[in-house]
Amino acid sequence: MRSFDVRVAGSGIVGKALALSLARLGLAVALRGAPALPGAREDVRAYALNPGSIALLRGLKVWDALPADARTPVRDMLVHGDAAGAALEFSAWEQRVGELAVITDAAALERELDSALRFAPHVTLVEADVPADLVAHCEGRAAAALEGLGAGIETRSYEQKAIAARLVAARPHGHVARQWFRSPDVLALLPFDRPEADRSYALVWSLPADKAVALLAAEPAAFEAELVLATGGEAGDLRLASERAAWPLAVGGAAAWCGPGWVLAGDAAHVVHPLAGQGLNLGLADVAALVSVIEAKEPWRRLGDERLLRRYVRLRAAPTSAMLRITDGLLRLFAEDKAPIRDLRNNGLNLVNRISPLKRWLTARALDS
Ligand SMILES: Cc1cc2nc3c(=O)[nH]c(=O)nc-3n(C[C@H](O)[C@H](O)[C@H](O)COP(=O)(O)OP(=O)(O)OC[C@H]3O[C@@H](n4cnc5c(N)ncnc54)[C@H](O)[C@@H]3O)c2cc1C
Repeated sequence: MRSFDVRVAGSGIVGKALALSLARLGLAVALRGAPALPGAREDVRAYALNPGSIALLRGLKVWDALPADARTPVRDMLVHGDAAGAALEFSAWEQRVGELAVITDAAALERELDSALRFAPHVTLVEADVPADLVAHCEGRAAAALEGLGAGIETRSYEQKAIAARLVAARPHGHVARQWFRSPDVLALLPFDRPEADRSYALVWSLPADKAVALLAAEPAAFEAELVLATGGEAGDLRLASERAAWPLAVGGAAAWCGPGWVLAGDAAHVVHPLAGQGLNLGLADVAALVSVIEAKEPWRRLGDERLLRRYVRLRAAPTSAMLRITDGLLRLFAEDKAPIRDLRNNGLNLVNRISPLKRWLTARALDS
């Protein structure tokens, strides 16, 4: 059986990006995905990607190949608390950056990665566990169920689901991302140009699981009415423009990110709540770090050498645990319904809004995961 330098297990966005990046170093890469489920639908999510993720995808010749309406820049962000007037505003102009994030169509991104993989000279798509010096596990949350891996992956369920869908609004989005943080839900309207330019949003609505299930089953008109209520009509009337899909939410990660001959990247290594739109950004930052470590490898060292792989883990440990703490902490803070805590967080939002250096620091953390 042919042997490879690296076997990438899992062909989500992180696995595909890693396979392409390693192939560009001239390594022989085997990419093993899971067989497509019969009747699988197109992903309705849109990801808020940061400059680091965009640079990686651009380097793979994937970013510029995306249709223009599949990537919409966010110029302003408005975060509402759960009291009237409590809000935090971020603007690209104020932060002296071109955009705060770019909302990217998940399905279009997967398609462009697939087409880049078809032309990549050193990547072989495989259907079995072929031998390789290094196995990179990118199976997402499914990695937790892999037998004998020894990564000690543990996640805690939030007992919540995130509903995603595409919406068309009565008013232009003006490139403003709007978010509502409160108890018990977190709702984000991400400006998007599909299906209608200037008037579409990608919805991410995290709710207690039973409420999410009820909303998924609700008639479209009832769902749209709930949405307008939840957003206070700020975007005008909202019409569903896609199916609704939901994902169970959890937090956690692996105790060990690498061992002799294996390494983890993406959701296989860490799972965060989507409230800050950072899960994939973390995963693509893992890819960039792992590739940089492999590129700088001493010629005599093997790819599966644990000492080499620990260099990658050292690069990623601090930014990942910071993001886990921030997203989990925010969620807990906003899940608390006691009046003093509610007042504290709403006053906190207004206070942060007035402190420019703190806002700049928060923006920098979101722009660079
Ligand atoms: C509603 C929602 C909104 C989000 N929004 C954002 C956002 O705005 N910005 C952001 O950065 N992140 C966001 N995220 C997080 C993001 O979706 C994930 O972090 C990202 O998809 C992880 O990518 P991955 O490739 O690591 O894992 P996955 O996407 O889970 O891919 C894993 C792949 O491995 C395959 N696989 C599984 N088991 C096996 C096996 N045994 N063998 C081979 N293959 C296998 C699976 O079929 C899948 O293709 C959001 C998440 C949700 C739920």
